[in-house]
Amino acid sequence: MPLPAVPDSYADVDLERAFYVLAQQQLGDLASQLAKAKAPPPEAAGLARQVAAAQRTWQEDLAPLGEPNRNQQLRKNVAAANELERKVTAAVPRPGADGTREPFGSARFEMLKTAVSMACSVTGAENPLIASVFGTGNEPAARRRLTEIAEILAKRLEQTSPGIAGDQAGFVLAALPATMKALASTTPKGGYIRIQPNALKDADLHGLATALVHEASHLMAQPTVDYAYRPGGLFHLLPASLAPRNAAHFEYLAAQFLSAGRTEAPADGSAQAKALLVLQFKVTRAWVRASDLTSPGPGRIPVAGLFHVDPDKVGLAVATAMFTALFAAMEAVMSLVQRNTTLTFAAAERLTMPADGAAQVTVAQAPPTAAATAAIDLICLHLSRQGRVGFRHLDLAKYIDDIASYDRPGLAGEVAGFLRWADSAPVGLGTPDSDGA
Ligand SMILES: [Zn+2]
Repeated sequence: MPLPAVPDSYADVDLERAFYVLAQQQLGDLASQLAKAKAPPPEAAGLARQVAAAQRTWQEDLAPLGEPNRNQQLRKNVAAANELERKVTAAVPRPGADGTREPFGSARFEMLKTAVSMACSVTGAENPLIASVFGTGNEPAARRRLTEIAEILAKRLEQTSPGIAGDQAGFVLAALPATMKALASTTPKGGYIRIQPNALKDADLHGLATALVHEASHLMAQPTVDYAYRPGGLFHLLPASLAPRNAAHFEYLAAQFLSAGRTEAPADGSAQAKALLVLQFKVTRAWVRASDLTSPGPGRIPVAGLFHVDPDKVGLAVATAMFTALFAAMEAVMSLVQRNTTLTFAAAERLTMPADGAAQVTVAQAPPTAAATAAIDLICLHLSRQGRVGFRHLDLAKYIDDIASYDRPGLAGEVAGFLRWADSAPVGLGTPDSDGA
């Protein structure tokens, strides 16, 4: 994303810090855009060298504090970085940058209908299955919520025409990250669900159906939250009170009911597993919250304090760019943590990342929340050294670690309660199997 214009009233040191972060994020993105190009054009190598040079410029070239040409220097660097972005994007287009909307067409619409009807059939899941996923006491609530999910999906299908490109209603075809089959967005009219075109494959409509159950659960009158996702089976360890509130529980039930491929065995209740659960929980909340904050609102204020982007001082454009960069940084953290990360206890703290493998985080033995804090620090340091995040690693780590204070106001109590639970509950408590159901 291009850097915003340097505001005219530029006088504050904070502004430089913000632009520095934004430029690191932008140039890091450009470097990875070039590195990931499938068929790089001849000029790609030269552009990669220019990006590396620009990264050095931002680190070295700003005039010392108090010099009169400091403002000019900042404007020059911003213009150069944006020009470089234009060249890189012309040479190596960003995947999914094309925002054209297209209709489903009859063949894909039929597949969508099949996936929706599979997803709606989950309301017929038998009590023992529901009780084993949600806990016995939650069975009636979970069943009511499954009925609501089916109604939401049926309504979205009614709002979708095979021949018309959707726009913020019903189901909408949209370029989503490759790993995401569907994505719900709330709107004043009740919300819509975006569908990744690649998810409409006859061979894997079960997979899409389970994703639809997850996404529709976010559109309920009392929406679910993403506290912990399915990979690794850690969500099974969440306290029973959070089960009907967590979207992955509904998705997992759907996967079990529809026998949609592999379903995750519950993680063991060891202290390491709980630390990993806390890590996943905080990173997930921090990612969701960063996505909220890309739109202006009062929730931005405490986070702006942490990152030195008070909108009154830096202007709305710079603040918005910073929050967009925060979300990009959280995407990097999230994709690292969601890839079957392991966490072990040992004296020498470190993070190793085998090529294309899952991160292996080693932290000193500690209660789950303290171990998660150490892991968050290592992850942010790792990504910042790789140039994947523009923020100072300590600032980003603090945002994730203190997410209970930055989260949606309605969730603060639940998030803080979970963290207390994590350190106080005996290891192993809270798994659906442990209550004998
Ligand atoms: Zn979700």
